[in-house]
Amino acid sequence: MKHHLVEPGKKIKLAERDPQDTGDFKGGKEDGLKEIVKLNEKLQELQELLYAEGKHKILVVLQAMDTGGKDGAIRRVFDGVNPQGVKVASFKVPTAEEMAHDYLWRVHKVVPANGELVIFNRSHYEDVLVVRVHNYVPKEVWSKRYEQINAFEKLLAENGTIILKFFLHISKDEQKERLQARLDDPTKHWKFSLGDLGERKLWDDYQSAYEDALNKTSTEYAPWYVVPANRKWYRDLVISKVLVETLEGLKMKYPEPKDDLSGVVIE
Ligand code: AMP
Ligand code: MG
Repeated sequence: MKHHLVEPGKKIKLAERDPQDTGDFKGGKEDGLKEIVKLNEKLQELQELLYAEGKHKILVVLQAMDTGGKDGAIRRVFDGVNPQGVKVASFKVPTAEEMAHDYLWRVHKVVPANGELVIFNRSHYEDVLVVRVHNYVPKEVWSKRYEQINAFEKLLAENGTIILKFFLHISKDEQKERLQARLDDPTKHWKFSLGDLGERKLWDDYQSAYEDALNKTSTEYAPWYVVPANRKWYRDLVISKVLVETLEGLKMKYPEPKDDLSGVVIE
């Protein structure tokens, strides 16, 4: 999955990353879906272990353009995990109380504790994306945030949080199809807002803002992956694989029993 990593210190161009790409995966959709099922089973075991061991904190950040597939990825990748140890935090337009604080206040409150895996559906990155594109704060304010974000994520990492960040990369044409599909399906209307069409007009500005965010905030301790996301199965495969490999790398162990259980007989 190195293929999709934004290597810290190197500059990528989003236009050079193909949303249709399937990396070095040899198979097609059918093989991909089978692989996802296997990875999902492993993820369920690893998450159980994470919870039981209670040593590590896992933070997964998902960012994407509208219809990029954050909701779908959460549903598919985390299917069957134990809800006791996994939480989703969704970041919407800030409330009045949130606006009255610094932009990391609402974020820091919901980062994972020991043994937990927290998925951010949008994140503090909105504060250098939508906020930058719409000039909600002046450039001198948002431009300082990349460094602030790196410092914040470093603090989390140095205190036991493993951070994985995924940008689900779709093409503008793919977005058009997905928006149309939402419009054509009454059960999807709740997801459609006319505002999404306005955001779509700002596509290029968003791509530049994303490119800057990816280049300025992909670090050793909190790397970004640009996930080709036109194909939903490949998107889910990449996220699953990175997660499973990262969790396996932790070499976690079930904790020793609190008491000596040898010779215990239950009457
Ligand atoms: P959705 O994810 O479709 O429910 O939409 C959430 C909306 O909240 C998106 O349009 C985001 O751009 C917006 N949003 C999230 N965080 C912020 C923020 N910090 N400032 C302004 N808008 C935000
Ligand atoms: Mg939306």
